[in-house]
Amino acid sequence: MLNLILFGPPGSGKGTQADKLVAKYDLIHISTGDLFRYEMKNDTELGKRAKEYMAKGELVPDEVTIGMLKNRVDQSLDAKGFIFDGFPRTIPQAEALDTLLSERGTGISGLIALHVTDDEIIDRILSRGKTSGRADDNDTEIIKNRILVYRGETEPVYNYYETQDKSQTVNGLGTIDEIFDRLCAEIDAVAAGA
Ligand code: AMP
Repeated sequence: MLNLILFGPPGSGKGTQADKLVAKYDLIHISTGDLFRYEMKNDTELGKRAKEYMAKGELVPDEVTIGMLKNRVDQSLDAKGFIFDGFPRTIPQAEALDTLLSERGTGISGLIALHVTDDEIIDRILSRGKTSGRADDNDTEIIKNRILVYRGETEPVYNYYETQDKSQTVNGLGTIDEIFDRLCAEIDAVAAGA
């Protein structure tokens, strides 16, 4: 399987790029943010629980997130591979993902981080907020908190995979197609080495 982690701060373009990448590489896109928003829309217990954290720009607790992710992976084990978007966001999530995949005879092929400056992130999220309908995209304080949480809790995941020689960074500024081409070049290199 080709299992990729699309990494980067909120607003770095992971969702947009993941949609294009799954079409090109025939992979399954798993976005934990999208899964939580689906649960919230359907007013499930999981959705209600997640909402408390998402509204503040905090992370949903690991055991909730990991449980949901496992269920989603197990629905698509016959896939060619996965693009994980917005997961893992903590070291325990990364460890759980490695265990989960190795128990299923596979593993992470590579992590690719989109590098974008904080000013650009805030502009992009506020502009997305005009149409996304997401409460967490419309408040500068919540966006700043999401960036802080990213720097504190999520960035270490990059180093975690770097020690396995799997982390790469690409420039996340430019047109959607320019960024897509950079990602494809990295993914082709990962796939060739797999
Ligand atoms: P996203 O759409 O990836 O920006 O995620 C939106 C929000 O969902 C985040 O700010 C968190 O509150 C929550 N969330 C998404 N993915 C995770 C995760 N892997 N771990 C914890 N919380 C998450």
